[in-house]
Amino acid sequence: MPTLLSGRRIFAAVAVALTIGGLLTPQIFSQTRLTGNDAVVAIAARSTFPNYKTTLKALSDMGTRQMIDSIPTESNTIAVAWLVRELGAMGYATTIFGTYRSVYCTKIGSRAPDSMYILCAHLDGVGGFSGNCDDDASGTALVVEAARAFAGAAVSTRCSIRFFLTNGHEAGYKGAIEYRDNRHDLQGKENPPGSRQFPEPVWLGLINQDLILYDHGNPAGPVQIPQASIRVNYCPWSYAESSLYMAQQFIAIDKVIFVGYPAVIPAGGGGLGAFDAGQFANYCPVISPEEGGGDAGYIANPLHHDDADTYETYSEADFALAFSAVQREVGEMAFLTQTTITGNTPAKSEPPVANAAPLSSSWSLLTRQHELTISASSRGTHTVKLSSLDGTPIMRRIGQGRMSYSLRTESVGAGLYVVTINADGNVMQKSVVIAR
Ligand SMILES: [Zn+2]
Repeated sequence: MPTLLSGRRIFAAVAVALTIGGLLTPQIFSQTRLTGNDAVVAIAARSTFPNYKTTLKALSDMGTRQMIDSIPTESNTIAVAWLVRELGAMGYATTIFGTYRSVYCTKIGSRAPDSMYILCAHLDGVGGFSGNCDDDASGTALVVEAARAFAGAAVSTRCSIRFFLTNGHEAGYKGAIEYRDNRHDLQGKENPPGSRQFPEPVWLGLINQDLILYDHGNPAGPVQIPQASIRVNYCPWSYAESSLYMAQQFIAIDKVIFVGYPAVIPAGGGGLGAFDAGQFANYCPVISPEEGGGDAGYIANPLHHDDADTYETYSEADFALAFSAVQREVGEMAFLTQTTITGNTPAKSEPPVANAAPLSSSWSLLTRQHELTISASSRGTHTVKLSSLDGTPIMRRIGQGRMSYSLRTESVGAGLYVVTINADGNVMQKSVVIAR
């Protein structure tokens, strides 16, 4: 496979995109520190589909993870210890909080460590023999993989992000309420004074993930429906404007990374009633992404609180829906915290470029079941390339004018890939999740 572009031409193209888009800072030229949309793409690429599935399976295989009021079952104790180990291995200092043994760790902001976004899910499940895979290993694994994406000194966030796994949720939101009631008065207080340490940064917003695997329609069929989506519940009665903004950003991440599934904001905000997010709604802006944007959400899920809610029950398409939420959430956090990343770009051979529409050409991506279509329009010739994150080429096409290129995705496999288009001398790049 010949090299598509020399390094010099890439930089020339970047300069064009910069002028047109006006989105990037000149720091991209150093290729050492990515900012803006480039950082969003790079951070999202650090959360991988295989890692998500591995974490999800590990949690689900632990069993119920149930808490009986404040008494943890053995599988709950195992889950707490596992989380402490897993998050600790990423370099986080981890806290087991309160009577209900919720778990949290924090990415400390470089500029504003006194404020934070909270990313949460509940680690405990209900009784029976279930793995509580959807409810809520799916959300817990999202938080773990988001923590992994932001881990390490190469990643810098302006404010802090707290990765928070509540416990005792199924006993009545106990861990969430305990945390809220014990810590809301501590917000923004420096302790010890003069230390620049803020044990409880100000709550800028909370994103709760609960049940994100399953959209088989309503009534539910045997397989994922073609229009499967994530609904983004937000709070319409308190911090409504900010909550809606967070929901809109969850969706707007599509402009930067293509996650393969749509997300929708339900009319009236949806419902927060059965989620930990509802416990924080009067304290900060909240959203609660949930499976099933086009139907009744988890209410339409026959596996909810059912013994069949195990890892083995779900398909690759189900996992991919959840992973689209992972990508959205990581991307949104990168956006909201003005994340920068040093080195480690998603496509090593070509720096990512903002999705700025050039003057003489355009392109779009469309995924349907088993098919990815890339449309490109150019005055002169264009090159369309699909590659894996390490740069391995999968498809390369050269054309002229208005063209559409379709690819059967079974031959590629589920995962995160990079589409690069060179049209009329402009390089555009976008990551794409091939889900099924
Ligand atoms: Zn739940």
